[in-house]
Amino acid sequence: MSKSKVLLIYTGGTIGMMQDAKTGQLKPFDFKQLTDQIPELNKFDVTLSAISFANPIDSSDMQPSVWIEIAKMIGKNYDKVDGFVVLHGSDTMSFTASALSFMLENLNKPVILTGSQLPIGMIRTDGKENLITAIEIAAAKQKGKPIVSEVCIYFEYQLYRGNRTHKFNAEHFQAFQSANYPVLAEAGVHLKYTQSALKKGNGKKLKVHTSLDSNIAILKIFPGITQNVMEAILNAQNVKAIILETFGSGNASTQKWFIDALKKAIDKGVLILNVTQCNAGKVEQGKYATSAAFKKIGVIGSSDITSEAAVAKLMFVLGTTSNKKEIEKLLKSDLRGEMTV
Ligand code: ASP
Repeated sequence: MSKSKVLLIYTGGTIGMMQDAKTGQLKPFDFKQLTDQIPELNKFDVTLSAISFANPIDSSDMQPSVWIEIAKMIGKNYDKVDGFVVLHGSDTMSFTASALSFMLENLNKPVILTGSQLPIGMIRTDGKENLITAIEIAAAKQKGKPIVSEVCIYFEYQLYRGNRTHKFNAEHFQAFQSANYPVLAEAGVHLKYTQSALKKGNGKKLKVHTSLDSNIAILKIFPGITQNVMEAILNAQNVKAIILETFGSGNASTQKWFIDALKKAIDKGVLILNVTQCNAGKVEQGKYATSAAFKKIGVIGSSDITSEAAVAKLMFVLGTTSNKKEIEKLLKSDLRGEMTV
């Protein structure tokens, strides 16, 4: 059997950073030095190729234009390789994984994002294991077909559906969580896949969507939020959709001014998406009296989607169509396994 081919796309992040001798700050370094740091890569039974961003970035500088660049790189190389590993900073990795999942329609090959909490050059780095296993997953096949055919994050022995993840820890090697969807695989002595949770390939031709609209906002409510702040966000210029981060199962204040402000925005054409502030569980509008009004005024309940996936989904949907009915239909549907409907 011929060797699997995997393309590494290096975007930046801690995994490829080194300490600036003068300032002590972590800065991205040249990709060639990354492969020097892991000679094990040469022993792999996989044909590896790599593309590096000309200017690798800390993922806190991530932008939708960069997601488009990555999606295009994947589209351009899709027929040439069996899988992709995207090296990326962990800070915004969940956003990028979510965005790619929407942009890569009919994906039938693995796209595995990984990174690390400690730079690869450090003795205690978590980057080596993350990278080596991510490559193994990107190359893995069963009966000639890829085992994974979706956008995932591999971090600290676990493989997650990318658009279900959330970075929940800034220090621990286990930095990600997928509270509302099972882990897709666990790496121990063996790589154990959860077959029932993996998305099945559909055999259709890949379609790369490259139009994203970032005229959106997140409005996280808190006890005491003022009318001024609410209205400033709801009336922000050009904003087409707002993720309303609510309490518990989608609840919020019942004060008249609060509901009126939302209703006014909705009547003006702004879409309001109800996403819970909780890491686990889902929005159920109407379960409590404190969310009943949402249903009446046309707030869209978003089940168990993460805020990260909601951001990416809104940008994708708004970039795809301007038909209001179609937008609402897409937002209420599960497009890439990002929410339970
Ligand atoms: N600030 C870094 C980044 O997201 C952190 C990391 O790589 O984990 O690029």
